[in-house]
Amino acid sequence: MLGKLTLIGCGPGASDLLTIRAARRIGEADIVFHDRLVEADVLEFASPAATLQYVGKKCTDGGRQQTDINSMLRGALLAGRHVARLKSGDPMIFGRAAEEIAVAVELGAEIEIVPGVTAALAAAAECSIPVTERAELQSFVVTTGRSANKDKEPDWANLLKPGICVAFYMSVAQAWRIQTALMARGVPGSLQAEWVENVGKPDCRRVETRLDRLALDARQHRVRNPAILFIRYPLSATNVEVIPAPADGMTI
Ligand code: SAH
Repeated sequence: MLGKLTLIGCGPGASDLLTIRAARRIGEADIVFHDRLVEADVLEFASPAATLQYVGKKCTDGGRQQTDINSMLRGALLAGRHVARLKSGDPMIFGRAAEEIAVAVELGAEIEIVPGVTAALAAAAECSIPVTERAELQSFVVTTGRSANKDKEPDWANLLKPGICVAFYMSVAQAWRIQTALMARGVPGSLQAEWVENVGKPDCRRVETRLDRLALDARQHRVRNPAILFIRYPLSATNVEVIPAPADGMTI
């Protein structure tokens, strides 16, 4: 009989940010595959009889190791095992979930996905950074500093518009590219930004900066991964000419 795959979001690190459902599903699994960013105390929820299998990879390792993980998952499902695949944050956000879901779908194995607290929202809570704000920030966007294909990186300037707060994942090494790409397209260098490093861990740190000092401050303050970068573009930061509302009866 085929096994079952449960993709489990484990939040940013602190085990008390796990959901109750995540803790239960970890305890029910007979094999647990865990990542580099999943903290050891999360593994304490596993059954003593379960096999713990580390499958960590750095994002710079490229696709090869993901192929290995996919074949390990396939092997465990074919052997009828109940697999808990632990992911940092939420599995559906920069978690290679699509590829792992495809393994289970292809085999026809049962699949369940347990959401987790994604790093940006944990960072927002830990540092009191609202990502939306009435009359100032109407939208919240999640993007990445790193893309599978260097020539097809996100069009950051198209995402960061007035009224929008953008959270950048995997962006420490890309600070200079992000800063120059945005400023070249007219985004004001004076915009407030912050790095939030090691969210959910005792050494969590916030480095406040501005768009035109992004790379400089990242270097001077030695910002290291894992870190989230927030750039907020409040409506009041724009110098938009205010056009008076048309008088009653007028049409534009
Ligand atoms: N699925 C995860 C994201 C994995 S991609 C989630 O939903 O959070 C890895 C990136 O997530 C890192 O480069 C960093 O930008 C961010 N990240 C993960 N854990 C973090 C943490 N504890 N503190 C700050 N950023 C973190």
